[in-house]
Amino acid sequence: MLGERGSLDMGVPDHYTVAEAKRNRRRRNHRVVILNQIEEELSKSGGYQDEDIVLWKHAEGKYMGNFSTRRLQTTDRMQIWNTSINTTCVLCNSTPESCAHLFFDCSYTRKIWRSLVGGLMQDSFTTDWSNLIALVSKPWLTPIKTFVLRYTLQAAVHAIWWERNARRHGEKPKDTYALIMFVDKGVRLKLLSVKEKGKHFNEGLTTWFGTRLNT
Ligand SMILES: [Zn+2]
Repeated sequence: MLGERGSLDMGVPDHYTVAEAKRNRRRRNHRVVILNQIEEELSKSGGYQDEDIVLWKHAEGKYMGNFSTRRLQTTDRMQIWNTSINTTCVLCNSTPESCAHLFFDCSYTRKIWRSLVGGLMQDSFTTDWSNLIALVSKPWLTPIKTFVLRYTLQAAVHAIWWERNARRHGEKPKDTYALIMFVDKGVRLKLLSVKEKGKHFNEGLTTWFGTRLNT
């Protein structure tokens, strides 16, 4: 979606879904620190979907997974980005780039994140990375909402990262609408693909469409 150079940087062909990307991604030695951090998180979140399915097979209210320690728990390492990256954000062209800025303090990414999950999160909506990680690190309102929020976060991070790289390589910028539509489509396809996997999953599309309509 973000052009040849952007996807090459991640070692991921354009048409791959996030899940496919994780399975097929090759480890590469990236020059950019921030990208290495994303790579690290990607490899750590391997098996993400399967774990969630196992987790949801347990009795209601009992969650066996430990999302916080092995998946998107990056707050400490994100601090490293802040000190090692000293360039202006290519998405808004006005603020130094850092993890906290990209996800989702930036005016560009904040708009995307709000459009995607503003309706789902309602009063819990936040653009603060630390708050978000804390939120997705434990079961949220309902199993399906937890799943949708985690998956949307993962998909949004990927889309934004690819757009960021594409711009750095001089490609034509995509507007927020294009990224919102891309992530939205990815989430819908994901929810469609897991629909038959359990009682919680068949609520997924309804949940997504319901909250998307409000935004
Ligand atoms: Zn920005």
